[in-house]
Amino acid sequence: MNHAIKQATTRLQVLVPAAIDGPFTYASQVPLAAGSLVGVNFANRHLVGAVWPVAADMAVPEAKLKYVSNVLDVPPLPRELMQFIDAVASFTLAPLGAVLQLCGLAHAAKLVKRPLTAPDYQPTLPTLSPEQAKAATALAAQKTKPILLDGVTGSGKTEVYFHVIADALAAALDAQILVLLPEISLTHQWIERFTKTFGGAPTVWHSHLTPAQRRKHWQATANGTARVIVGARSALFLPFQNLQLIVVDEEHDPSFKQEDGVLYHARDMAVMRARFAQAAVILSSATPSLETLLNVESGKYIRVELPQRFGVAEMPTVTLIDLLNEPPERGEFLSPTAKQAMLQTLARGEQVLLFLNRRGYAPLLLCRTCGHRFQCDNCSAWMVMHGKNIAHATLQCHHCGTRKKVPDKCPSCEAEAEMFAACGPGIERVTEEVRNMFALDETAPRLVMLSSDEAVAPEQWSAIERGEVDIIIGTQIIAKGHHFPRLTLVIVVDADMGLGGADLRAGERTFQLLHQLGGRAGRAEISGTVMIQTSQPQHPIMQALKRHDRNAVMKLERQLRQQGNWPPYGQLASILLDGVNEQNVLRAAQQLAREAPHDPRITVLGPAPAPLSKLRGQFRFRLLVKADKTIHLQRTLSGWLTGKKFTGVRIKLDVNPYYFL
Ligand SMILES: [Zn+2]
Ligand SMILES: [Zn+2]
Repeated sequence: MNHAIKQATTRLQVLVPAAIDGPFTYASQVPLAAGSLVGVNFANRHLVGAVWPVAADMAVPEAKLKYVSNVLDVPPLPRELMQFIDAVASFTLAPLGAVLQLCGLAHAAKLVKRPLTAPDYQPTLPTLSPEQAKAATALAAQKTKPILLDGVTGSGKTEVYFHVIADALAAALDAQILVLLPEISLTHQWIERFTKTFGGAPTVWHSHLTPAQRRKHWQATANGTARVIVGARSALFLPFQNLQLIVVDEEHDPSFKQEDGVLYHARDMAVMRARFAQAAVILSSATPSLETLLNVESGKYIRVELPQRFGVAEMPTVTLIDLLNEPPERGEFLSPTAKQAMLQTLARGEQVLLFLNRRGYAPLLLCRTCGHRFQCDNCSAWMVMHGKNIAHATLQCHHCGTRKKVPDKCPSCEAEAEMFAACGPGIERVTEEVRNMFALDETAPRLVMLSSDEAVAPEQWSAIERGEVDIIIGTQIIAKGHHFPRLTLVIVVDADMGLGGADLRAGERTFQLLHQLGGRAGRAEISGTVMIQTSQPQHPIMQALKRHDRNAVMKLERQLRQQGNWPPYGQLASILLDGVNEQNVLRAAQQLAREAPHDPRITVLGPAPAPLSKLRGQFRFRLLVKADKTIHLQRTLSGWLTGKKFTGVRIKLDVNPYYFL
């Protein structure tokens, strides 16, 4: 009897979504295919795990084996997804189970009552210009190498890849397509456009879905009902059954880099998943990243170009306003030239957009009596003032979220609050300045302020598109994707903010952002103007913007990074240590530095305090590891760091970091 049970028992390796490095051994009454999803008991929790395609561990004694509690009624994870999970873990050095966690297996646990119905796409595709048609043909022909779809803003990249999507859908009835967008705020307009073109909605995947929607969409992806999935970076880990094409829109966008948990770059990982899935991959951008451009040069990627703006619209004229020669009035932030241009544009019945990437009213509040600056208690950062009236304003830390009322008295000299001075501009303050330009009656322009402080309703975007708003004032969220046909003047309030500073890619990013803003102006029949306020008009980035000269910027960036052996010429990793006791953190960082591998091809910089040397009460020190391309960086790092533990100190490892705060 006993013997018979043993015969029926199969050993399996099950990977569970938890911060563990590999699968555990379980028993099952029946053999299960690799990728099958099973419920298991793990560390007193019930988890959904996946049967991992590795040989079962026979060393675990029979008596210690736990049985899987149930087998879920969904298709097993495809092999390419499991290979992809392995590869992401090897690249990022994150625990294998932590990468599996990104796949959201728990969404399979309870089958939805009303599953997604299969969409019936009936595409009515836009007619392409000869150049677009040529590009679409080139895209459709390339199946083995990633493609960079390279075209200026407004050149019709979306129309072109819509054709490729339609072809892929038609080629196989079970084909699935993934479109990655850098931000949720962009998806609304994209979905509308897609739905109009394809006669059916895509399946959406991002963090704003309700739990019920997530389950439904996950299951529809797993069983193949969902055919076109659009989402943020996490959609990359969905269990597609037959992934045929991945489109990464705005491939250069820094928000594709995941900053919590598993630190991966969704663009690079999309290329990786496409390789395992044998799917085509299209990276689309008007301002491709240096990494991608170099991959084109080396022949790893293919470039398909769309050289002109589609239709009649011309590239906007870029004017640099020298803030030193042409300063704004005292206490103001818009130069006379910018204000003049605003008035003229409004008089023609066209829209104006003012861009400033700073939320709140003022980035700093200080006491004029003693010079005290209001700083966050938890972070090495100034508190940002929100609201213009000191009596009602709040002080907010944009790093840890702390907020409090502005105190009645200076904490340092007890001067009254009327002695406090708000320094520098935030978008609330620029909005106030613009309001003050006009009489407060029905002739005043209609104005809207948009920032990430409040979610922008789809209706708000539509109202702007329809021209029901005259002036738009906003932060980064207005820079991307949106198409405002009546917009003809863009004013960049402070273009100097991004330049300088510790960011490796600051120049490239500033160019991308400002170029993108320029792309908002004059996209219909009317041509546009971009005015950039800067105190460094001679800066090469500014000069390149004026000439629309992307190559000049990229040439400069290449030189800088090549000279310093920075990525993509060399490899880089960041080791960030943090903890509540500053001395402990520093000592741990110093010890790691002493134990660094000795190799002339590796340079370890630091430890140095991170630019944000204190965040949420944690003190932060960083080591930067620069390595030659010939080094196997991951192997080196794990050899060095594995088993290193310091009481009260966390170690966060980021291979190919993008943020250095
Ligand atoms: Zn004071
Ligand atoms: Zn803070």
